[in-house]
Amino acid sequence: MGQGTLVIRGGQVIDCTGRDPIPNGSVVLEDGHIAAVGPSQDVRAPRSADIFDADGMSVLPGLIDAHVHITMTGGADLVSMVTSRSFGRVAYDTVAHLRDTVRAGVTSIRTMGDVGFLDIAARDAIRRGQFIGPRIVACGKGLTSTGGHAVLMPPWIKTEYGDSWEIVNDTGGARAAVRRQVEAGADHIKVFQTGGVIDPGGRIDAEEFTVEELSAIVETARACKRPVACHAHNKAGILHAIEAGVRSIEHGMYFDDECAARAKARDVFFVPTLIVMDNILRLGPQHGVPEFYLQNISSRTPQHHGNVRSAFEAGVRIVTGTDAGSVLTGHGAPGYEVAMLVKAGLPPMAALLAATANAAALLGIDREVGTLEAGKCADVIVVRGDALADPTVVAGPDRMAAVFVGGASLGQAQAAA
Ligand SMILES: [Zn+2]
Repeated sequence: MGQGTLVIRGGQVIDCTGRDPIPNGSVVLEDGHIAAVGPSQDVRAPRSADIFDADGMSVLPGLIDAHVHITMTGGADLVSMVTSRSFGRVAYDTVAHLRDTVRAGVTSIRTMGDVGFLDIAARDAIRRGQFIGPRIVACGKGLTSTGGHAVLMPPWIKTEYGDSWEIVNDTGGARAAVRRQVEAGADHIKVFQTGGVIDPGGRIDAEEFTVEELSAIVETARACKRPVACHAHNKAGILHAIEAGVRSIEHGMYFDDECAARAKARDVFFVPTLIVMDNILRLGPQHGVPEFYLQNISSRTPQHHGNVRSAFEAGVRIVTGTDAGSVLTGHGAPGYEVAMLVKAGLPPMAALLAATANAAALLGIDREVGTLEAGKCADVIVVRGDALADPTVVAGPDRMAAVFVGGASLGQAQAAA
């Protein structure tokens, strides 16, 4: 329905601007954009308009996942995920992941480290209209150091088509690596400042880059007008990253009150990715993940959840990211992250804003998407049930009654394909 008018009528409209929901609302989609939003009795539409009856449903902006690895499969073993797939297989898997993403009502994603610049190619193919998929804000490859967190493979294994990371060990290399991502077409820059939960030997508590190296990365990115997303768990790494001027902290298990105050002062976003931690804890044992994964997470989860709530209360903007593609986390999962944020103590509306307006602001696409307002792109989802009473109703493809990307109905696009 790229052309013509569709009225989504009679549902609870949650526009994610921060305003109260409209109990019996209508959203008018016209030529790929939102033409009107309001109480059904006030909204006018042409007589010829198609009607979607959303009685008993909630109407929201399309969900946004700010932390995705679109070329990765979400398997339990990252090394075998890399070594078992040819580049052609990776490319087709990526198309399938993009389809899974939009089917779950996820209309925008930020990719955070992918192989072969396939995330950038996917972004451009979707823009050209070659297939339907989410809007993509792409990072290209993630910047890490020798032996750093992003290095998924033992050093004796090399793939012909390269890696999803770039190794940097000095300030000159850091500047060049940022510029290579920009040259390839990256929108944001991803950097790994600390170890992570899948690292052995306490590396989660260590840092990767010196302050000078990290500053060189952020400074070069700033000169290229690219925001920096920083993977950081421990407090020193988080504070160094905020000080250097990154735009978002990813994961952040030790994002305590001091980190929150500094982040708030510098308008840094927090993307806690609770769902990937939860998935590894719940599903890891039956998939045989190493014991230290579970140890790393379980020993820090209560404080992680507490930090998310405190950061929210301190006024830090929280954003949904899932780490989709990494260990035991599939694509199209930000709805599950919404439910995790509520579990951590965010009010349901705040959790929905994390997946919509806040995420759009972080990705720099808030003029086009992230809220239901006249003039914005028609990225809209209709879910069965009351998304404020039960945030799990936004989680997963089965809950979606309809998904529109730029006004195109997913069902129709799939039928046409
Ligand atoms: Zn990640």
